Amino acid sequence: MSQDAVREIRINPIVPSDSVLVATARGSRPQKAEEPAPRDTRSHVDRCPFCTGNEDKTPPTILALPDERHWKIRIVENLYPVLGDDSEYGNLALGLQQTIDGYGRHEVIIDNDNHGIALHEMSEEHLTLLAQTYQRRIRELYESDDRLKYVLAFKNFGPAAGASIPHTHSQIIAMPVVPDNVHAEVTNSRAFYRKHHQCIFCTLIDEALTFEATIYDKHSGEVRRKINVGQYVIERGEHFIAIKPFASRFEWEIHILPLKHQADMLDASSDELADFARVLKNSMARLDAVVGGVQYNYFFHSLPHTEDFEDCSPSYHWHLEICPRTSIPTGFELGSGLFVNTISPEQAAEQLRAVVL
Ligand SMILES: [Zn+2]
Ligand SMILES: [Zn+2]
Ligand SMILES: [Zn+2]
Repeated sequence: MSQDAVREIRINPIVPSDSVLVATARGSRPQKAEEPAPRDTRSHVDRCPFCTGNEDKTPPTILALPDERHWKIRIVENLYPVLGDDSEYGNLALGLQQTIDGYGRHEVIIDNDNHGIALHEMSEEHLTLLAQTYQRRIRELYESDDRLKYVLAFKNFGPAAGASIPHTHSQIIAMPVVPDNVHAEVTNSRAFYRKHHQCIFCTLIDEALTFEATIYDKHSGEVRRKINVGQYVIERGEHFIAIKPFASRFEWEIHILPLKHQADMLDASSDELADFARVLKNSMARLDAVVGGVQYNYFFHSLPHTEDFEDCSPSYHWHLEICPRTSIPTGFELGSGLFVNTISPEQAAEQLRAVVL
């Protein structure tokens, strides 16, 4: 391995089972690259069901902003919902096999009236409206039915990220269970809080802003690597920070978190959401400059609305995880559950930060 090459398993501090093998040396790559998808940059496509003029091609409108005739953002029912509120079956248990009724809601947010616009090309005002729309709809869904335990807002961009319709859009799924990864984050951060009386996310943000670490060789005592933890900061706004996780599962993964402790995204003020929109826009512009036409998923993780986690406001911290799809998982990853990252998060952060916006 060359001097700068990294080959180590990094433990995710919040969810230790989500470990990552960072292996940057040439030849140690059990992965296949995912090519950037050709961008469809057309602003209007006559046959696209999400383009203006085709409103009758989608299920009925749930919400249109700023208004139905001149909408910039529109929410509709998903034509093929993965969960629905028409289910007639209760929960089932057959020996060890259990099912929970697939009750829920599945909606599509048409992010923009412009068909092929990339996220970083949208104006700050528009992205603020989009963030407010996510927040508003998540709140409405929680309030609509107390069987809903978690409302997940997410976006898939590009076929490799699972987007089946090219027109830019996000989705909201309201579900009767708390997803596993959110569950693990909430319970692990609660355990950390009980032990250390601090939020683990706030601690990570503090480290990202101030901390330097030196790693010594166990045997010789020589300096093996110096980590300037500040090197993980990608973008900083007034209320939000974008960081490159030390144990990034994906090469260009970025997380955006409120700087001040906040457990529930529904508590963010409109000022805060405007700053979130700016940090998101700049982060996506950096990503696009480094990995042009990148396909990605992003999703919000926020405090679930369930009694089990009522005491977690001081310990959980909401965030957005942006997961660019630049490689295809192989049997090694699926079989081991270990993510493989072939670019060191330090180098990736440096490249993202170096982009002049
Ligand atoms: Zn379209
Ligand atoms: Zn916190
Ligand atoms: Zn998360």
